[in-house]
Amino acid sequence: MLNNLDYTGKIKRIDGDLVTVQINEPLNLERLQTVYNGYTGDREADIRIRDPRSFSPEQRAFTFALLNDIFNYTGQPFEALKDMFYWKYRLLTGKQISLADLSENTKDDIALLDNIILDFIFENHIPFKKGYDVLPMNRSYYFYKCITTRTCCICGKANADIDHFSKALGRRDRKTVDHTQFDFAALCREHHTEKHNLGITNFKNKYHVEGIRLNQETIKKLRIGG
Ligand SMILES: [Zn+2]
Ligand SMILES: [Zn+2]
Repeated sequence: MLNNLDYTGKIKRIDGDLVTVQINEPLNLERLQTVYNGYTGDREADIRIRDPRSFSPEQRAFTFALLNDIFNYTGQPFEALKDMFYWKYRLLTGKQISLADLSENTKDDIALLDNIILDFIFENHIPFKKGYDVLPMNRSYYFYKCITTRTCCICGKANADIDHFSKALGRRDRKTVDHTQFDFAALCREHHTEKHNLGITNFKNKYHVEGIRLNQETIKKLRIGG
């Protein structure tokens, strides 16, 4: 097992049982020569073709980054955290969940698992220092939770302002205007000031913040305009 070499790549050509795979990095020939030194048998390889729906390595890394932040703050053992979130997932969906190699879970499954973990992070005020490199499928939920828990979406600071994000309120009367027609972002004092100094376009380019629309109930609960 020790000397197996794993590569990933893309299938370029199929001609009957002859398959051409372009690997993502060059073969480690030096290593192969060492392993095969004096060996005269066939050079064998396993091929496992990925299900395009199956979750990505980035999702696995993101999940572990989230769990790691919870571990750092709570000291809860990693396995216990994993069990808890897997249990929550099963309770919610009735389906099994796993991030192991042979897992049959899809991108959507892991995106939901990550939203469950994000929910825990926000509801328990688990600090995150530099914000997250949030994956595309989790971005809306992330920015939404930042707003409802008033957490700065850039630096994680508490008691953030809720900013009318893409379109300023301007001279409109904040008591009578229809706030469901606006999008919002949670920004701490510092980042809020920076946004107004830079202007929306430069700010978006710098931080990749997404504005989120809210329904009437949430707007009321957050006392936006009230
Ligand atoms: Zn901030
Ligand atoms: Zn503002």
